[in-house]
Amino acid sequence: MNDNRPPEPSWHPWHDDDPIRLGVSSCLLGAEVRYDGGHKRERFISEVLGEFFEWVLVCPEVEIGLGVPRPPIRLVHGGDNLRLVEPGSGEDLTERMESFARKRLAELQESGIDGFILKSRSPSCGMEGIEVFGTDRSSTKDGAGIFARILMEGWPDLPVTEEDWLGQPHLCGDFFECVLRHHRRRTVSGRGLDPQQSAELHTAHRLLLERLRETS
Ligand code: SF4
Repeated sequence: MNDNRPPEPSWHPWHDDDPIRLGVSSCLLGAEVRYDGGHKRERFISEVLGEFFEWVLVCPEVEIGLGVPRPPIRLVHGGDNLRLVEPGSGEDLTERMESFARKRLAELQESGIDGFILKSRSPSCGMEGIEVFGTDRSSTKDGAGIFARILMEGWPDLPVTEEDWLGQPHLCGDFFECVLRHHRRRTVSGRGLDPQQSAELHTAHRLLLERLRETS
């Protein structure tokens, strides 16, 4: 056996040295933070993706101080902007959520993440198609959750997706390709990799992407 053979390329050493971190809506990992005290755990995210990524959990509603359980909240039309309101009490949570979202966004940028998986259909976390109510009880499905909107507007090159989209192989593959590219950009400039190291990182990411495609 020739012990001088170069080691097989692998994504593991890079991952162990500098894990790729993704933000995630906490309820998707099984945290019981929803208004009804439950969660929305997605097995693919919590079990399969956990091998490849390190999670940064965010629950905007709990982090602005709402309890568990709590009355449901919704988006309503109000002037130029959508408002986030608790219909039972009429309390308007818009400013609280917006100022939290801006602060959390700055923290995430400071700590470094390479993508975010958001919970669909949430007035806080949903990316699009969220139900918005009018004063006459009519509703349209054209809103974006307030935390999600501020995250996407404030960090336009961050790859962002929802759990529903991860169920579609081509969208799932596109998302992870963007995540790895984002991570590579940060790593190459942040750690000052030389061309040889950059090439090795590129190979590691190609192998990682192949594994991800096999598992999704
Ligand atoms: Fe919290 Fe967002 Fe999940 Fe709602 S959808 S429970 S705000 S993480």
